[in-house]
Amino acid sequence: MKPIIAANWKMNKTVGESVLFAERLSNEFAKMEDKDIIIAPPFTALHSVAAVLKGSALHLSAQNMHWDEKGAYTGEISAGMLIDVGCEYVIIGHSERRNLFAEKDEYINQKIKTAFKMNLKPIFCIGETLNERNLEKTFEILRRQIKEGLNNILSDDIKRIVFAYEPVWAIGTGKTATAQQAEEAHRYIRKAIIDLFGKDAGANNIRIIYGGSVNQENIAGLMDQPDINGALVGGASLNFESFAKIINF
Ligand code: PEP
Repeated sequence: MKPIIAANWKMNKTVGESVLFAERLSNEFAKMEDKDIIIAPPFTALHSVAAVLKGSALHLSAQNMHWDEKGAYTGEISAGMLIDVGCEYVIIGHSERRNLFAEKDEYINQKIKTAFKMNLKPIFCIGETLNERNLEKTFEILRRQIKEGLNNILSDDIKRIVFAYEPVWAIGTGKTATAQQAEEAHRYIRKAIIDLFGKDAGANNIRIIYGGSVNQENIAGLMDQPDINGALVGGASLNFESFAKIINF
């Protein structure tokens, strides 16, 4: 499976800073065919970054979208707008959206359905909090997030989802799950996809990427694990040199 290295810049970088980064990325990795490199700049920079990435092997993602196709939702962005601006992917269900903006599994489910309708590929984030892990509820939480987040999604569409396992306690904290902890969760996610959606969903070929304080030091150990097919990188993706090292793990 082709590994994915994705950058989530969150609410960082102006248009100018995003374009400069995208130009450097394009100079170095425009022809990279053996890994899928995805960048998710803030909304304001998507249009300019899309122009820089055009014609390269690099992919553009948004960080969020609204579930409805259009309407009176002040301040929101639709899937159609993301397609219009040149996005191929969209991050859905990031833990910061779930926790800070009260996004429930049911909204996430609607967003995923709308993303498919508009031909955007979801990067679907799931993961447990520290409290849930300490209570040994990790697998239960992951199963619920998958079951409810992907309710009524066809197995043909399940195949096109990139799953991102992001333990909440490891995001932006400098605490990474050990490669073994991450592998254990990824293996469980693959099994849950088979249990919930059957063999037709092709779980063995679905890419499940890890996110949570990934950096240039820990990426190789994570990528050595059989069920880890890439990384979603927050903090360490903001600096070009460190992101380039992660890409070249
Ligand atoms: C993220 O927010 O998706 C993330 C993984 O952040 P960080 O790498 O900073 O933990």
